[in-house]
Amino acid sequence: MSNIIKLLPDHVANQIAAGEVVQRPASVVKELLENAIDAEATSIKLVVKDAGKTLIQVIDNGKGMSDIDARLCFDRHATSKIQSADDLFNLHTKGFRGEALASIAAIAHVELKTKTEEAEIGTHVTIEGSKVISQEVAVVPKGTTLSVKNLFYNIPARRNFLKSNPVETRHIIDEFHRVALAHPQVAFKMIHNGSDVFDLPESNVRQRIVNIFGTKSNEKLVPVTEETEIVKVDGFVLKPEFAKKSRGEQFFFVNDRFIKSPYLNHAVVSAFEGLVKDGTHPGYFLYLDVPSKSIDINIHPTKTEIKFDDEHSIYAMLRATIKHSLGQFSIAPVLDFNKDSSFDTPYEYSKKDPVVPTIEVDRTFNPFKEGSTSKPSKVSFKKESTTAWESLYVGLKDDDNPSIEAEPFGEMQVESDEFTGNLFTEEKVHAGQITFQIQNKYIVSAVKSGMMIVHQHLAHQRIMYEELLKNMTVQEAVSQQLLFPVQVTFSKPKIELLETIREQLEHTGFVFSSWEEEEIGINGIPAGVKESNVEGILEQVLSDLEHQVPEAGFSQNDLLAKSLAKSMAIKTGTALEKEEQEHLIHQLFACKEPSVSPDNRPVLVMLNANDLDKKFM
Ligand code: ADP
Ligand code: MG
Repeated sequence: MSNIIKLLPDHVANQIAAGEVVQRPASVVKELLENAIDAEATSIKLVVKDAGKTLIQVIDNGKGMSDIDARLCFDRHATSKIQSADDLFNLHTKGFRGEALASIAAIAHVELKTKTEEAEIGTHVTIEGSKVISQEVAVVPKGTTLSVKNLFYNIPARRNFLKSNPVETRHIIDEFHRVALAHPQVAFKMIHNGSDVFDLPESNVRQRIVNIFGTKSNEKLVPVTEETEIVKVDGFVLKPEFAKKSRGEQFFFVNDRFIKSPYLNHAVVSAFEGLVKDGTHPGYFLYLDVPSKSIDINIHPTKTEIKFDDEHSIYAMLRATIKHSLGQFSIAPVLDFNKDSSFDTPYEYSKKDPVVPTIEVDRTFNPFKEGSTSKPSKVSFKKESTTAWESLYVGLKDDDNPSIEAEPFGEMQVESDEFTGNLFTEEKVHAGQITFQIQNKYIVSAVKSGMMIVHQHLAHQRIMYEELLKNMTVQEAVSQQLLFPVQVTFSKPKIELLETIREQLEHTGFVFSSWEEEEIGINGIPAGVKESNVEGILEQVLSDLEHQVPEAGFSQNDLLAKSLAKSMAIKTGTALEKEEQEHLIHQLFACKEPSVSPDNRPVLVMLNANDLDKKFM
C-alpha cells in the first residue's frame, strides 16, 4: 500500500490553528491589544466597525517592526518573545506562541503598517488568506497599525456562526476592559462605528476603574493590599452592597494578565460570605504578582487559564486579605470573621427581651443595605401547638370533603392556626385554607385529582411576562409615581444600550425624569415593582440585552418582557401571606399558558392520587 500521510500546506495548518486562537472578533482584539502592550506602546487606539465583523484596527506607538519582521511576523511560530523552552517558564510578555498573527492572516484580509524608531521609512504589508499580496514602503510614524478586515471571509460557516452585533460588541468591550484594566499606565481609546466608546488617559488603577465604570464606582471601592513571599496582592473589591446579579465586574490579573480562575473566585466569594445576598456576586479588581517561574501560562491557547505552583496558599491568603480589608473599612460588622453574620439578630429585635418559646428569625435582613425596607420575612414558631400536623392531615385526606371535590381552590377548615416547624426552616403555613407554602418556594394546593405544587417564582414570572407583553403592545401600563425620583448610575455604554429600549421601558410603566450620559432619573416605575429594586431590575435587563439580544426577527419586546418578568417576579425565599398565595394561583390560571415559565421551565407539578398511592405500596 502506498504512503498516504501528507503534510498539510501552511495555509491549511494556519486555518486550523486559527480555530483555536480566533473564536470571534473579540479574540482578534485581545491578540492585537496584547501585541501592542508587548511592543511597549504607551498609547493604543482600537477602531472597530460592525462589531469587528468588517474592521478591527489597532494603532500603537510601540517599537514597531523592521521590513523583514513585518513579513516574518505572519509565519507560524514566528515570535520575538521567547528563544528557548526555558523562557516558557519565565515569561514577561503577553504573547510567546507566535501564532496569533499567522492565524488571523489565514482567515481575514490583513494590512500592517509599521516603523521602528531607527528606520527612516516604514513598511506596508498586505496579506490575505496567508498569502502576501504586497509589501511597499510607507510614510508612517513610529509604531504599528494592524488592520483586520472581513474576518472569516473564507470560512463562511464561522462567519455565520457569529452572534448579533450587540453581542459581539459586548465581547469586544469585555476584552478591551481586561487589557485596559491590566495596564492603567497605558492610554487607551476605543472607537466603534465612528463614535468614541472609551477614552482612557494614562492613570492609576483606581482612576482607570472609574474611567471605565463611571464616576460613581469610586465610592464603591475598598482597597485590598498584602504582600507575602509567594504573592503580592493589590487592587479593590466592591463594597458588599454593590454585589450584582450578573458576574460583570470580576477581574483577576496575574502578572498583568487577565485570567479566569473559578478557584480563586471562590476564595473571594467566601470572604464575602454573609455580607452579600444569595444569588449576587461581589465585584473585584484584584492584581496578583507572583514570581513568573511559579506559574504555567501555556495550558490554554488563549492564555486565560494558568496554573499556580501553590494555589492553596494563594487561596488562603486572598481570602484572609479580603476579609481583613472589609473589616478594616468597617464594612464587616464584627472582627470575628468566623461568625456568619447572616445569623445576626436584627437590631430592632436585639434590644427586646427574648420571649421563650417564640423564636423570631429574619435571615433576609441585611444591616448593610441602605434603605432596605423590603418586607422582612419574619417567622414565628410556637412550641405549644402540636396538633396542627394532625389537623392538616385530617383535612387533606378527607376524601369526602365536598369543598375539595367541588372547588380546587376553595377554602378548607382545619382546627389550629398554628403550625409546628423546625428552627430556621422558615416554614410558614397557615391552616384554614387549601394553599400553603413550603420552603418559601412552592405553593401547594389540594386539587380534585390530588395535589398541585406551584413554583412561586416561575409562576409569577409567567404572570408578569404576559402582563408586560400586553402592556407593551397595547401601551397602557400602570405606572407608580415616586415621591422622590430615583437616580441610577451606569457606565456610558450601558446607558447607551438602555437608550435603545427606552421606549419599551416606558411602555411597561417606567417614567424617566432625566437622562444623562452616566445617570438617569426615574420618577415612575411599573406598578408592582419595589422602589428599592429598580436598579437591580435595570441591571438584569442590561445584562440580558448584552448577552442575548436576538437577531432581527425575534421580538425585542419579548426579550424585555422576559427579562423584566424575571427580575420583578416574587423571589424564591419570600414568605407569602395566605391571600398572596391564593391571588398568585388565581392570576396564574388566568394566564394564556399557565404551565410553563417564559423560559419554558415547568411552573407546576401535579401529583395525582394514584401517584401518591404508589408511594405507599
Ligand atoms: P506572539 O505575540 O506570540 O509573539 P504574534 O503572532 O502575536 O505572536 O506576533 C508575532 C510577532 O510579531 C511578535 O513576536 C512581535 O515580534 C511582532 N509583533 C506583533 N505585533 C506587533 C506590534 N504591534 N508591534 C511590534 N511588533 C509586533
Ligand atoms: Mg501576540
